[in-house]
Amino acid sequence: MNKEKRHEIFRRLQAINPKPTTELEYSNPFELLVAVILSAQATDVGVNKATRRLFKVANTPKKLLALGEDGLKEYIKTIGLFNTKAKNLIKTARILEEKYNGEVPRDRDALESLPGVGRKTANVVLNTAFGEPTIAVDTHIFRVSNRTGLAKGKTPLAVEKKLLKVVPEKFKKDAHHWLILHGRYVCKARTPNCAECVIRDLCDYKEKTDQPKRNTSGSSNKTAVSDASQNAKKKNTTTKNTSKPVKTPD
Ligand code: SF4
Repeated sequence: MNKEKRHEIFRRLQAINPKPTTELEYSNPFELLVAVILSAQATDVGVNKATRRLFKVANTPKKLLALGEDGLKEYIKTIGLFNTKAKNLIKTARILEEKYNGEVPRDRDALESLPGVGRKTANVVLNTAFGEPTIAVDTHIFRVSNRTGLAKGKTPLAVEKKLLKVVPEKFKKDAHHWLILHGRYVCKARTPNCAECVIRDLCDYKEKTDQPKRNTSGSSNKTAVSDASQNAKKKNTTTKNTSKPVKTPD
């Protein structure tokens, strides 16, 4: 795929959703970190349901420590792997409290040293809480990048490196959200909705579904993604830089 096509892909994704953000609900970097840790192998909807209650009683490392591991489990027991996640969250809260004065560090190495935090989670936090132009490659971004030919790679890390290299600078900070939303609502895993896809004519995927029902001037998948975006905005309670400059992964 050439440079012009990549630019046009992001121009269109931006046109239908100028201020993309995450569908996880949060109001400070710590809440975002907790939500992203909980979201591993879980849906954003399920995580939001749990955190809506949890954050009312524990939205800082100190309060989470006061709640304790067993107390925390009561709030997150509907989420997969909740035992491990509860352990990791308590350990993480303790480190943040003792080492970082209760703040989430704006530093990749520091973030990745926290229990339950890998490269993807660190990327989401750096991007969404701190506005850094990182790209967290989850299952949706991995699929969309490979299918379209935007950034092919055998591993999430390979795709991330390629995306960082080829995504035009002006789109880099929001690329993560556009690609996730596109993968989640249009370029779905089992059956991509190619007929309604706004970037259909730019996509290299050989097995596109159906024929286009309308042209791809920028309005075809507008509804699906705009609805997703609207829903995300309604649900999101972000404070920092989610809609401006960014939010995200899911
Ligand atoms: S045309 Fe189909 S495969 Fe290509 S990005 Fe759109 S939905 Fe995905």
